[in-house]
Amino acid sequence: MRVARLTLPALLAALLLALAPGRASAAGLVYSGTGWKIATKDGIHSLSPKPYVFTFTDTASRTRLTPYAKAAATQLTSVTGTTFTVSTTIEVPPAEGSCPTEHHLILGVKYRPVGSKGMSHAWNCYTNRPGQPDYHAAWGGWAWIDSEYWSTSSWFSTNSTVNTARIKNAVSHEIGHLVGLDHPNKDLDGDGTVESYECAKTTGGYLPLMCSPHGGYTSSTNGGKFTSRDTPGLRQLVDNYGMG
Ligand SMILES: [Zn+2]
Repeated sequence: MRVARLTLPALLAALLLALAPGRASAAGLVYSGTGWKIATKDGIHSLSPKPYVFTFTDTASRTRLTPYAKAAATQLTSVTGTTFTVSTTIEVPPAEGSCPTEHHLILGVKYRPVGSKGMSHAWNCYTNRPGQPDYHAAWGGWAWIDSEYWSTSSWFSTNSTVNTARIKNAVSHEIGHLVGLDHPNKDLDGDGTVESYECAKTTGGYLPLMCSPHGGYTSSTNGGKFTSRDTPGLRQLVDNYGMG
């Protein structure tokens, strides 16, 4: 009977949905929340469950940035469930407009990489599966961190604890772009302009790490960490993978 043949798959589908409450249809794709935003403007909709690896542009950058990369990798692995590791590999970043090896996150230190004082920058790529935006996962990319942060002992603050934390935040912020987070700045005061530092704060009063131009915790223990505003965005990146 035709009806019976149609009914059984429907029942199975209902059962599978009930068994997998964390799964969602295309309607379940989410790209922003309070204090976080996914970088769909860069083509990134999700984070792959396959491992990502940090590499470095040169040995001096590797020496300087390895501790920062390790701290970020530990938190990213813990929050997302995707494994992030820090290698000792040196590789030249590709020309602008090109992409590196899949799942390589290349870090380097450079004086004013985009020509502006104090500005670092990340170039990210995404996996292109036409018609399947949920599979447009963070591919990898590279980030240049402005060397000026280490040029004095007080680039960001005369308080050495705050200064150290804010250098860590600056590095992690660029890493956040590489894995698919955008600035969550929003017109919260309703004046018609999205301003610098205009981001939903944590309950403790901190700006999200991904806030533009910068945010994050400023203590010695929490500097460099994605805040409680950023971490739901990191989790959503993983949840979006393969959801379409
Ligand atoms: Zn940024």
